[in-house]
Amino acid sequence: MRFLPVFLDLKAGPVVLIGAGELLRAKLRVLAAAGARIRVHAIDGNHDLSLSSDDAARIEVATGDPLTADLGGVIAIVCAGAGDVGVAMSVRAKSLGLPVNVMDDLEHSSFIFPAIVDRGDVVVAVGTGGTSPVVARRVREKIEALLPARIGELAEFIGGFRKSINERIAELPLRRRFWERVIDGPIGASVLAGRKSEADAALKAIADPSEFARADKPEGSVALVGAGPGDPDLLTIKALRALQDADIVFHDELVSPEILDRIRRDTTRVAVGRRVGKPGIGQDAINKRMIEAAQSGQRVVRLKGGDPFVFGRGGEEVEALRSAGVAYSIIPGITAGLGGAADFEVPLTYRHEATRITFLTAHRARDAEGVDWSTLTDTKMTVVVYMGMTAAPAIRAGLFAAGRSPETPVGVFARVTRPDAEGAIGTLRDLPELVRQIHGGPAILIIGDVVRHAGSLRRQTPKQIISDLLDAAE
Ligand code: SAH
Repeated sequence: MRFLPVFLDLKAGPVVLIGAGELLRAKLRVLAAAGARIRVHAIDGNHDLSLSSDDAARIEVATGDPLTADLGGVIAIVCAGAGDVGVAMSVRAKSLGLPVNVMDDLEHSSFIFPAIVDRGDVVVAVGTGGTSPVVARRVREKIEALLPARIGELAEFIGGFRKSINERIAELPLRRRFWERVIDGPIGASVLAGRKSEADAALKAIADPSEFARADKPEGSVALVGAGPGDPDLLTIKALRALQDADIVFHDELVSPEILDRIRRDTTRVAVGRRVGKPGIGQDAINKRMIEAAQSGQRVVRLKGGDPFVFGRGGEEVEALRSAGVAYSIIPGITAGLGGAADFEVPLTYRHEATRITFLTAHRARDAEGVDWSTLTDTKMTVVVYMGMTAAPAIRAGLFAAGRSPETPVGVFARVTRPDAEGAIGTLRDLPELVRQIHGGPAILIIGDVVRHAGSLRRQTPKQIISDLLDAAE
């Protein structure tokens, strides 16, 4: 390591910035955004710095020669686009013992700028010793994705309580455990979810901080997480974080193996899903096991295909968690209907053509009979059917009865967003036949004029193409 990362106190004094052109303006933006007081020497004489009134109060435009200017009280010198003046300034700064950065010139710099992740009080600096700013930026992007957006608020929240709590816990290791429990438990989760007043109340409700810190069991919680339709890259950043933090994951059959791969290696996985025709362990048993795991102090993830609140029984699980008094959170996911629409390029709404969307489920013919088809007569309504493969004939009959034309475009889209996704497009008249063309579910149906806009069904796998060719040759 050649450069030690340290944090400069911008309140201690002004930074002197010397240079010209866009390079100067870019550095000015960086320093201004950080809240620095800045003395600018624009050596090209162009003093138009397009400052906002906010910034202008902290920025002083200097007119004298920077090589002879008074540097008393200055905390650092930055040169950007300053040419020879930058080199001379570096010599001067070094002789005065002042930190100096000359942009893109390691030899004349005594400090360099890292790539910054800025989350309020939490700041991450990434450096590559000046070798490759592009690598530093890539690392920064990865950290940006990993760090919760409200991590700065969490630091600030803790900062607000630190003095009063520390006064009540004398031993240092116990203090540390106290804050670890707060950060890792439901209080930390509330702050990160933007529910600060809830977190505030919970922390104030801790009667004996030492006892809280000593408790041998961590506080468990359950996150209901939407896994999306299959492509692991469609997991939300929050979902990914929850999978990385979980001690145990209860997942549905629908959750793809690629997504299960994103779970931390040492996490217990329990498959609890039902498959068509095969019962799972049952909803009550799932609720019971989740609650027990959370009460024993584990961080539980209930991972569900698509979105937990779209035909996912997430509502029932939340009710069970509420009545058990277990802390929980809900992380939405991309539901299969939206995944399918994107995958096969079917816009679910379209100006003048489709102005409403209905998501419905028709698992068995019996469910399909329970649907009030008369609410689906509007030809400007796109209908997305979940679990509709076996009930396809009943769905067709229902929509016919509602007066929908047999020529209404229909798409059957299976295993959407996965590598083996496939689709079949035709009309409502052919719906049962379209379903037969599909090599297994899960699949959604999209019914409505918008299906006309679908892209090509390019997502056929070579294996399917060959088997289709063989079928056709027979
Ligand atoms: N909560 C899920 C839906 C669960 S119901 C969600 O929001 O997507 C199960 C039904 O979802 C399946 O029968 C099928 O209709 C649909 N489905 C789930 N994943 C799918 C996928 N990858 N491709 C097509 N349909 C899918």
